[in-house]
Amino acid sequence: MTRRWNFRAYPTDAQAEHLARTFGCCRLVYNGMLAARTVAFQRGERLTQAATDKRLTILKRDPELAFLNAVSCVPLQQSLRHLQQAFVNFFATRSAYPTFKKKHKARDSATYTRSAFRFDRVSQRLTLAKLGMLELCISRRVEVDPSTVTVTRHPSGRYYVSMVIEIEAPATKRSTTGQSIGIDFGLTCLATLSNGETIPNPRHLTQKTALLARAQRRLARTKTGSNRRRTQARRVARLHEQIADARRDSLHKLSTSLVRRFDTIYLEDLHLRGLVQNHHLARSLSDVSIGMAIRMIEAKAEASGVSVVKIDRWCPSSKQCSACGHVLDALPLSVRRWTCPRCHSEHDRDVNAAKNILAVGQTVTARGGGIRAVRTSVRKASRQRNVNHSRTKHRVSS
Ligand SMILES: [Zn+2]
Repeated sequence: MTRRWNFRAYPTDAQAEHLARTFGCCRLVYNGMLAARTVAFQRGERLTQAATDKRLTILKRDPELAFLNAVSCVPLQQSLRHLQQAFVNFFATRSAYPTFKKKHKARDSATYTRSAFRFDRVSQRLTLAKLGMLELCISRRVEVDPSTVTVTRHPSGRYYVSMVIEIEAPATKRSTTGQSIGIDFGLTCLATLSNGETIPNPRHLTQKTALLARAQRRLARTKTGSNRRRTQARRVARLHEQIADARRDSLHKLSTSLVRRFDTIYLEDLHLRGLVQNHHLARSLSDVSIGMAIRMIEAKAEASGVSVVKIDRWCPSSKQCSACGHVLDALPLSVRRWTCPRCHSEHDRDVNAAKNILAVGQTVTARGGGIRAVRTSVRKASRQRNVNHSRTKHRVSS
């Protein structure tokens, strides 16, 4: 199993400066080659990766771009690999047309392959080419050699190192529990299980979200390019990270507990949720964490032999009575509890939805997973839309 392990990194001031230069050079190479490939693309030609590699060699000979030689050449080549992958994804209609990397806007990163780093497994120390030993907070021992190492600077100013490692699945699977569960992810609480358990959102989250909304309003009032804007942007980024940290922590606890207790986990597919357009901050944050929860559950399930079944919400899972199958005409979001008019059972909105997810999931698995085909076609259609959209946009701008 390929895993990506993240560790917080603490570069010295000199290393931070060198990393900033490396990130800058990677961005320059990426953006420069993206521009060249775009020109070629508009002419109906294709610039291969070998061609961009050659161009990089020529660029480095340019006396005006001599600073490219001050940083390790590996991250520069790797950024061309990333660009190539972005084009592969675009041509395979998996993603939109690659965009330029903006300074200060997103995370900066530099990827080092084996020839450009050394990892000592005994002392757990990482040495990068032209940078030296980078201080890491090793939260778990790495007992295999990483294949690549990526240094990332978040907009909040934190540094991380992520190592791609290959680990073996444990030979002995954990004993079965004979239990299945359906999960409904939500806005008001993180998740509701079909057995009636609720997993609340991490504490202080509402307060932090309110602070974030205020900080973002403040950011919107600052002038572009001003110092004030940069300070405020960092404040916003820090709040974002604090919220993400709190969520990630509770999601780790949730996913570990689920995988330990249940043999089969049924959940709704996030993709269909994504089709519903919404621009509310809380909603988008919640969607991000649902995606993360699903990935965590899948990864931990794979490692311990638990199966995860994703189902589509074709069925009206909230409006249907889980006891008798009666479907309500309407169920406004504000209604948290309701009574079935036919069988008179009392329902909690989210628990009822989770029970339906479990029931639909079990039927689908018993039938042999007939819904899967439908799901793929939906996904393809939506991808096609994105691609068409970006292609039109691209043509307009050119
Ligand atoms: Zn009923």
